[in-house]
Amino acid sequence: QSKARGRNTVTLFSPEIGAQFERRTAVAQALHRALEESSFELHLQPKFDVREGIRLIGAEALLRLTDAELGPISPAEFIPVAEVDGLVSAIDLEVMRLAGTMMADWAARGIRLPLAVNINATTLDEPGHADLAERLLRVGLDPEQVTVELTETGLAAPGLRQRRNLERLRDVGYKIAIDDFGTGQSALGVLQSLPVAEIKIDRSFVRGLEGPEPGRARALMRAILAMAGALGLRAIAEGVETEAQFSILKEEGCPAMQGFLLGRPLGLRSFEARYLAEEPRPRAVALAGI
Ligand code: C2E
Ligand code: MG
Ligand code: MG
Ligand code: MG
Repeated sequence: QSKARGRNTVTLFSPEIGAQFERRTAVAQALHRALEESSFELHLQPKFDVREGIRLIGAEALLRLTDAELGPISPAEFIPVAEVDGLVSAIDLEVMRLAGTMMADWAARGIRLPLAVNINATTLDEPGHADLAERLLRVGLDPEQVTVELTETGLAAPGLRQRRNLERLRDVGYKIAIDDFGTGQSALGVLQSLPVAEIKIDRSFVRGLEGPEPGRARALMRAILAMAGALGLRAIAEGVETEAQFSILKEEGCPAMQGFLLGRPLGLRSFEARYLAEEPRPRAVALAGI
């Protein structure tokens, strides 16, 4: 180490940091390419009402990128890169465009299924997107059918433009969901001041139900559900992976769920074949093993 430092008094570089930097640069380039070539794709994950049986109530659009050189890159990796590089709004617009095209195609085929799209809170704050509701309408996203999911991060201290955008979305009829609810700095502040219709209870709370302190986790889940009920918010638990989690959530009266146990994100054609085949309307889905 000290030898490697040699005559430099300060070491600014380590191999790991170098590799991380290279990866970020490569991911940023992949994002630019994907935007230029419109090669992003949307996958869909089903959402279910579980109060009586298990009923499909909608889908969440999740962005997928497969780069010619880097292969598949997860949004968990590329969204943070896009945030830093100022690409996230361009990506959000691309997602809206793709979702609008998909919904127009569904409408033409007589398919009606509520759709949730993820939008970054920074996109609500771009001077160029002062009226995001207008954009959503223009790409053909029907307010009756569309929920906008936003994470609390970035909404902790909503600025005027963000607030106006959210209110306008609400007024036009879009539903607003708080994603990863409970993980931000101001979970409750967001509910106090913004027009929210749904909370998506973060996967960490679901995982806790089988963690080292299941009693506490269960009490916490119960409290979150009671709060949602009292405020008239729709609640959905995300990241439900096991039957044990499913049963506990059901016992606690959790009305809706999403997760690998009930359905993984699928490419559009696979999703359609599995959930929308034959009947034009979403039907109750019978799931093996539950
Ligand atoms: P999110 O909106 O909370 O989406 C849920 C993520 O959890 C997805 O990962 C999904 O595949 C994963 N997931 C679903 N069920 C389970 C489960 O049972 N277990 C586990 N371990 N994971 C589950 P994905 O697709 O990698 O997305 C990660 C995050 O990237 C999303 O979290 C969202 O914040 C962001 N993202 C995805 N698509 C978009 C997009 O189109 N625009 C923006 N701005 N962000 C997006
Ligand atoms: Mg989401
Ligand atoms: Mg989520
Ligand atoms: Mg999440």
